[in-house]
Amino acid sequence: MKTSRTKAFGTRPRIQGIGVSAGIAIGPAHVVEGGIGQVPEYPIETKQVEAEVERFREGMTKARKQVRKLRRKVEDLPGGVQEELGGVLEAHLAMMESSRLTAGVEALIADRLINAESALQATVSEIARGLSAVKDRYLASRAQDVREVGDRILRLLTDTPYQAFSRLHPGSIVVAEELSPADTALMSPDRVDGFVTALGGSDSHTAIMARSMGLPAVLGATEASAGIKTGDMLIVDGEAGLVLVDPDAQTIAEYRRRAEARKRLDRQLARLKSILAETADGTRISLMANMELPRDAEAADQFGAEGIGLLRTEFLFMNRPDLPDEDEQYAILSGIVHAMKGRPVTIRTIDVGGEKLATALGDRIGDSPNPALGLRAIRLMLKEPRLMEAQLAAILRAGAHGPVRILLPMITSVGQVRQVRNAIKKVAARLKRRKVKIAHPLPPLGVMIEVPGAALTADALAVECDFFAIGTNDLTMYTIAIDRGDEQVADLYNPLHPAVLRLVQFTVEAALRQGIPVSICGEIAGDPRYAPLLLGLGVKELSMAARALPRVKQRIKRLSLGAATHRARAIMDQTDEGRIAALLDDFNEGLLG
Ligand code: PEP
Ligand code: MG
Repeated sequence: MKTSRTKAFGTRPRIQGIGVSAGIAIGPAHVVEGGIGQVPEYPIETKQVEAEVERFREGMTKARKQVRKLRRKVEDLPGGVQEELGGVLEAHLAMMESSRLTAGVEALIADRLINAESALQATVSEIARGLSAVKDRYLASRAQDVREVGDRILRLLTDTPYQAFSRLHPGSIVVAEELSPADTALMSPDRVDGFVTALGGSDSHTAIMARSMGLPAVLGATEASAGIKTGDMLIVDGEAGLVLVDPDAQTIAEYRRRAEARKRLDRQLARLKSILAETADGTRISLMANMELPRDAEAADQFGAEGIGLLRTEFLFMNRPDLPDEDEQYAILSGIVHAMKGRPVTIRTIDVGGEKLATALGDRIGDSPNPALGLRAIRLMLKEPRLMEAQLAAILRAGAHGPVRILLPMITSVGQVRQVRNAIKKVAARLKRRKVKIAHPLPPLGVMIEVPGAALTADALAVECDFFAIGTNDLTMYTIAIDRGDEQVADLYNPLHPAVLRLVQFTVEAALRQGIPVSICGEIAGDPRYAPLLLGLGVKELSMAARALPRVKQRIKRLSLGAATHRARAIMDQTDEGRIAALLDDFNEGLLG
């Protein structure tokens, strides 16, 4: 994967980033402005002043970190751009260091006894007004800087996603500095045709959402936020990771042709919908869909999923100020179970924390020095039994309408599985006492294998649970210590690293020995390139973005499991990532040639 840079393309800019969701989008840019509107002011008590000032300082620290990160990335850009963009970021950093801003906000919190957000907004307005009052172009641009800095800190303080997507013109291409998974969940494919961001890596949840919605997307395109204006015509090539700004008519025509060819192939592959996946030598492989939002059930059906292999329920908790209670979760989950018409739905308990944030859970998670290693997923649930029991109850009730399985994220010990199993029994007993209909028998309980510690104890976990789902996204991140969402190390993020493959192999073998099903639901499951290796390692179930199903099915139909197993053995003997990739690619070329 490449880092961002501008190349000459005639006179028209061409921005390189990381292609995370294939496909071509052509349309006008909509650059997301940082503004989040008026924030509510509320009074605080004198004893809360210290905590409120601390909250403001934390927001400020995060904002500085963000800008420094952008500043470092800009250093790789060509001279002129580097100077211009770097200058703006330097000005923002200086603004954040200025005592006028920090002392102003802190004094206002203490003097007027108001919350940090409104103190910040008031201070920013006052500084900006002062600067704009002097008729001077330089000072006017400083006023804009202070507003942008204020918006950045406010967004971090309030954890507010961009809300402007619903008002976009259909066919727009969203351009933003960064989009959180929660932001992306607000995009409707009816209005947005693709998106481009300056920050973000290939297996971030934002990238996963793009693939799930079938939106061409390029992340980690540093220059995007400064080099593109709203209204600019863009071509987004989500495969090559390329963004063309203001392309000429000939280039547009060429990309339209490519987009049309892709659509034609999609139409041909759609015919595979009702054919079950089977290797050329006759082994059945079960292909399931991953799902983030209730609307994804339609795509799962449309692309012929045999069920839902991973329902990421945390998305039901995002973009709302409160938590959905048991009844609301039940209503949503049973709707999904109905929509899947008897096919199994694997419901994963909430996996918030890390980069996936839900406003209403924010204060329970707190501010972790290292969110990926912090109070995430099952750890949070076990600390908040009421939250866990409400979700388990909703799942058990939804299970009365069709087959469901319960899947636990970020498991690292058998004790955690036992705790949840006990909680399920307790919740089931309570529901039965109240004569509420629930799944009968109780749903299978499975665990995600996505932490090296879990993979290495897979033999013990296999005894304790009913199925495994291997999450190679996190497994890769935690095994080789590469943040899946950080574009700066995106070129090092590699699920084909021998350490990752050995953990996958160990896990699959443990499951097979114990006789429990094992699936892969990380992003590699949806990339046809990996199919021969995963099947060759003994995996018989894959779960992926629904739109990826036809291409993976086509690859499976072409390969012989015998040959794939042979090749997987050869791959597992290798220690070099390059050699592993070459052996895999060579096998795939043999299938396509
Ligand atoms: C994974 O980690 O591979 C996985 C499927 O879970 P998520 O992407 O939601 O972390
Ligand atoms: Mg995961």
